[in-house]
Amino acid sequence: MERTYVMVKPDGVQRNLAGEIISRFEKKGFQLVGLKLMQITPELAGKHYGEHEGKPFYGELIDFITSGPVVAMVWQGQNVVSVIRNMMGKTNPAEAAPGTIRGDYAVFMGNNVVHGSDSPESAEREINLFFSPEELVDYKKATDFWLYGK
Ligand code: GDP
Ligand code: MG
Repeated sequence: MERTYVMVKPDGVQRNLAGEIISRFEKKGFQLVGLKLMQITPELAGKHYGEHEGKPFYGELIDFITSGPVVAMVWQGQNVVSVIRNMMGKTNPAEAAPGTIRGDYAVFMGNNVVHGSDSPESAEREINLFFSPEELVDYKKATDFWLYGK
């Protein structure tokens, strides 16, 4: 089963949206396999956002993501990477469709409430960056039959 790395960014935590964001993925039918509140160090932020190093917004991005606690999560389910990206909406909240998390709860590009891995490869890299194997819990959910028919 596919897994993805999701985090409620510092603005989402401060604006009391962590529960709402978790609730959306939970109600969709995805399974939570890792969860923690943490403060990101500049070193970890640099690794996580390495692909953006050198871009004009990079400094702002690192300052922002280290500015307060985040809720780090691993979610599991069929096509979870792309489905969660769709549920988050476009990067720029001004272009994110209503009904998506960013469309419903954010206005500015820099403060867009939530992160989700953009591919299964990124997901694996990011999960390993934020979680040790012992922090991820393998368990069977009774609802699987009703979600997947098996
Ligand atoms: P994501 O995968 O949808 O989060 O988007 P990207 O990987 O392209 O960018 C990572 C994060 O950097 C985004 O979620 C934004 O918070 C931030 N970001 C991207 N572009 C800009 C920009 O032009 N200005 C600012 N301030 N932040 C940006
Ligand atoms: Mg990205």
